[in-house]
Amino acid sequence: MRPQPPPAAVRRADGLAKTGHQQALLKTGALQNAIFNSANFSSIATDAKGVIQIFNVGAEKMLGYTAAEVVNKITPADISDPQEVIQRAKSLSLELGTPITPGFEALVFKASRGIEDIYELTYIRKNGSRFPAVVSVTALRDADKAIIGYLLIGTDNTARQQIEDQLRWTEESFRLMVESVADAAIVQLDAQGNVLSWNTGAQRIKGYSSEEIIGQHFSRFYSGTDIKNGKPQHDLDVASAKGRYEDEGWRVRKDGTTFWASVVFTTIRDPVGNLRGFAKMTRDLTERRQVEADLNRARDEALQASRAKSEFLANMSHEIRTPMNGVIGMTEVLLDSPLPPAQRDAVETIRFSGQSLLTIINDILDFSKMEAGMLRLDIGDLDIHRVLGRAIALFAEPAASKGIKLDQFVETKVPPILRGDPGRLHQVLTNLIANALKFTEHGSILVRAAVEKETAGATLVRFTVRDSGIGISKEAQQRLFQTFMQADSSTTRKYGGSGLGLAISKQLAELMDGEMGVESEPGKGSSFWFTARLEKSDAIVMQLEAAATEIPVSDGMTSRWRVLVAEDNPVNQRVARHQLVRLGLKADVVENGRQAIEALQREHYDLVLMDCQMPELDGYAATTEIRRNEGANRHTWIIAMTAHAMGGDRE
Ligand code: ADP
Repeated sequence: MRPQPPPAAVRRADGLAKTGHQQALLKTGALQNAIFNSANFSSIATDAKGVIQIFNVGAEKMLGYTAAEVVNKITPADISDPQEVIQRAKSLSLELGTPITPGFEALVFKASRGIEDIYELTYIRKNGSRFPAVVSVTALRDADKAIIGYLLIGTDNTARQQIEDQLRWTEESFRLMVESVADAAIVQLDAQGNVLSWNTGAQRIKGYSSEEIIGQHFSRFYSGTDIKNGKPQHDLDVASAKGRYEDEGWRVRKDGTTFWASVVFTTIRDPVGNLRGFAKMTRDLTERRQVEADLNRARDEALQASRAKSEFLANMSHEIRTPMNGVIGMTEVLLDSPLPPAQRDAVETIRFSGQSLLTIINDILDFSKMEAGMLRLDIGDLDIHRVLGRAIALFAEPAASKGIKLDQFVETKVPPILRGDPGRLHQVLTNLIANALKFTEHGSILVRAAVEKETAGATLVRFTVRDSGIGISKEAQQRLFQTFMQADSSTTRKYGGSGLGLAISKQLAELMDGEMGVESEPGKGSSFWFTARLEKSDAIVMQLEAAATEIPVSDGMTSRWRVLVAEDNPVNQRVARHQLVRLGLKADVVENGRQAIEALQREHYDLVLMDCQMPELDGYAATTEIRRNEGANRHTWIIAMTAHAMGGDRE
């Protein structure tokens, strides 16, 4: 082996005085050995002609040849991609203005001229496979500066190139992805708003090809008015101030037609924060907007129809209640008169049927209100004992005549006063008690209230109506709470009913944050229960009882009361008068609000029953005037009468 000149790095330090340690390293050749034995670099040294003289371990590993196979046999050009070598010769000839042979010369020409040279090149292994290498070339000179050979140090560049390829591919695929998105226009603008890039979606939505639009200002997508008002610049200004700007509005296509756009501007800034431009994403929401408008219209129409339906039902129920009131009232007039037993029986039947019909009308009205989601609870303070007592009182007489024991029991833990809707509680309870009575021939009915659960602000109260009646089969229990369902079809024939009662009761229980259910055994009886969440009340028991005191109607005092009935309907007039007479009260009747005012100016009345709708002057206007006429120390009781049963009317 010929003595090797020191490598470049060491030579560069040549001019400086060497320390003792450096001298030692150089003299022993330790440095050279280390460099040449490195397995990670291919170190190939040639003679001046390019014939390989040294082929280190790294070169053997990288290229697959043993040193013996190449030394004194080939030049590095023989292990390089021939096409690349030709290409390199060509471009060097051009660069340096002198013809360079496409062989070894092309690989070392620059180095031979003392120009530092590092280049990329494809090396070919012994087995024919290829890899990218970064090669650094140094000319080796003797003491007289004459070139005696070349050193080519190569590293395998595969990994780096893979990363670069990967990166290039990522960028490329990202660009392709953006470009191929067809559902949204993704457009890049420069800081002034000129279009820099244009994707498929942009072309589809706005109609311009990228050749037509790139370089144009984005304001052309706005309407004339928007441009006049400076909206395009405004949008960019807001976006650059906030980093992002979202907008919806009409935009203009190439053909002049408009579309409803949802636009998002996002600023693009360089690493030091300078504004470089904007990414603008636009979606065409014209269709969606249309669908939304259609949906809104459909919803409005449905609401309108539903309102019309409930109004119709309210009116119908009013129309039906008025004559029913006449029928029931007049049968009562008849029943108060002496009648032969057969006729009394017939009239009783008329009254019973009339009352059943009224119940059904009320059920249907409630049910349609629930369907329309219009049923609201009327929350106030209530006393469970009282609610139960009143419900039971209604059935005391029919229960007694059937020989059935009817009792109530309120668990002591139940707070005396709670907040809830007493009217609706009463409705559910009376419905359950009526059913119990209907389906029980002997034995007893017990109505219970107990605490199911206590929470911070409320008590969940469980109400149970237990009877010893006919009971309900398991199958029938499943269907019981569905609308228009009866345990079996014979029920209707035998007992009557609409099959709405339990469905309504269950929904009412749910409206009160509770549930409803039944336990029953055919032949043994049924136990219907429901829960209601009733809030705790601050009211003091005494106050509530005082407020709830009813006007006593049967003492000697009230029998002297004078009552005025203002009512235009002759049937209602007769019914009202008759009922007042039954209570031992004297009543005068007038036909409208005007006459009511005049009557009150003429005479003293303790109580006015005032119909709401009347000709000439209605009950509302008449009441207003009566109150105006009254001095500060007089206040006549005025009670409104109406068959309008909607919540709004009551308010
Ligand atoms: P209806 O108005 O027909 O009574 P409900 O919904 O109140 O409608 O009741 C539905 C059916 O449930 C009744 O027809 C009856 O068959 C059955 N049912 C309800 N309560 C009882 C009960 N306490 N005992 C036996 N059957 C009952």
